[in-house]
Amino acid sequence: MTATTPEPRRCGDCGECCTALAVPSLRKPAGEPCPHDRGPRSTRRCGLYDKPERPPECRAFSCAWANRVLPAKHRPDAAGVVAVANEGVLALHESAAGNVERHRARPMLARVMATSTRRRLPVFRIRPDGSKSLIVSGN
Ligand code: SF4
Ligand code: SF4
Repeated sequence: MTATTPEPRRCGDCGECCTALAVPSLRKPAGEPCPHDRGPRSTRRCGLYDKPERPPECRAFSCAWANRVLPAKHRPDAAGVVAVANEGVLALHESAAGNVERHRARPMLARVMATSTRRRLPVFRIRPDGSKSLIVSGN
């Protein structure tokens, strides 16, 4: 029997990673909106989505919410924080400095803490300037 990987969720009108994360091939720094992001009112936010110029790092990216590590109600745009699960670590990328501490991030953070405890995952906070701090050790 082969284990099946759950289908990734569709991003819908979320585009939080397009601000929170750096895109080196576009020279877009973390914390600044991508110039190709057409905004939530567009049918599709990424203006390069179907084009060959769409950066490979964007094509390859999928956040922890899209990968169903977090429940549907914690889509990243609700908190302004993009959770990324990678190599046994959960990284919380803020779209704007301080988002992790804001009221709107509390429900998502509570869930992240529960997930961290259950899976023994260390959790890091990544600010737009690239500074990183350990929030939970995961032990
Ligand atoms: S942050 Fe996640 S859900 Fe939002 S657009 Fe990026 S990959 Fe999709
Ligand atoms: S190129 Fe598209 S997917 Fe990549 S950051 Fe910009 S808007 Fe987002």
